[in-house]
Amino acid sequence: MIFKVSKGQFPLLKRNELTTLQVNIGYKCNQSCIHCHVNAGPHRWEMMDSVTLDLIPKILELYNLKILDITGGAPEMHPRFKSLVLKARSMGVEVIDRCNLTILSEPGYEDLSLFLADNEVEITASLPCYQEDSVDKQRGKGVFQRSITGLKELNKHGYGLPDSGLNLNLVFNPQGINLPPPQNELEKVFKEQLYQNYGIHFTSLFTITNMPIKRFKNQLQLSGQLDQYKKLLEDSHNPQNLETVMCRSLLSVDWQGYIFDCDFNQQLGIKIEQGPIHIKHLLLEKTKWEGRQIKVASHCFGCTAGNGSSCGGALSD
Ligand code: SF4
Ligand code: SF4
Repeated sequence: MIFKVSKGQFPLLKRNELTTLQVNIGYKCNQSCIHCHVNAGPHRWEMMDSVTLDLIPKILELYNLKILDITGGAPEMHPRFKSLVLKARSMGVEVIDRCNLTILSEPGYEDLSLFLADNEVEITASLPCYQEDSVDKQRGKGVFQRSITGLKELNKHGYGLPDSGLNLNLVFNPQGINLPPPQNELEKVFKEQLYQNYGIHFTSLFTITNMPIKRFKNQLQLSGQLDQYKKLLEDSHNPQNLETVMCRSLLSVDWQGYIFDCDFNQQLGIKIEQGPIHIKHLLLEKTKWEGRQIKVASHCFGCTAGNGSSCGGALSD
């Protein structure tokens, strides 16, 4: 496919086959990280209602989707998190839990790691560095040690161990206004450091570029670095990444049940080309997604800069 690119304007993009439903089931979180692109935190009250949540498995079935990617907030704090996981797994759908690791040691969540292992849920967890001060600076005091405790707990159930079938992926995002380094090289360093210092195993490292939106955008504005960072993203645009940006195969659903091209567009309130559509309307008639236009804007350079960035990490070597 040929993509038209003109300076400062993100190229037009069209959808490929739909494989994944990414659902944000609520903004409540036990943390308040400074780079959080959903402004999640303990006092957020927005949670998907039960009627909407019950539509998710129906969408998975009708569209024959292979992957349910559950995000938040801390998605495990939703009272229906487990029932959604159980239903999707009973349908043979692969489930990804975007876990912040500290939720595993919150009171009332003691059985969570065992539940996830028993149901073979893939875990993708943020750990922006293998050094304590760096993680605590970005994610809050004490978060690093609690994350290590969470990782040890997951390893105990087999997560991240070779041949266990239980994938434990860690997510790295840079501090400040830098692009992530090469994913493969950084993964080797993370594996060495976490094993040598804490005896921890994990499956893969995903490097993700910070998006200049929401809380991180505010931070850049305060430090006078927003324009510089946006220019870096634009100047680092790599057209090769356009083939695999996540919006080409994924639909994102917000806590109210409305669909978006991706989680970032959701947070920015950029509706899909066809206007606001609730998932209940997707059940009335099967929609063909392939070939449909994706709503792009300047923040999209955050997905294509350098080695690229998606919810599954870098897009190219
Ligand atoms: S743990 Fe995740 S969802 Fe919660 S505040 Fe941090 S980045 Fe946001
Ligand atoms: S920000 Fe969203 S719409 Fe833009 S390229 Fe990335 S995934 Fe696609």
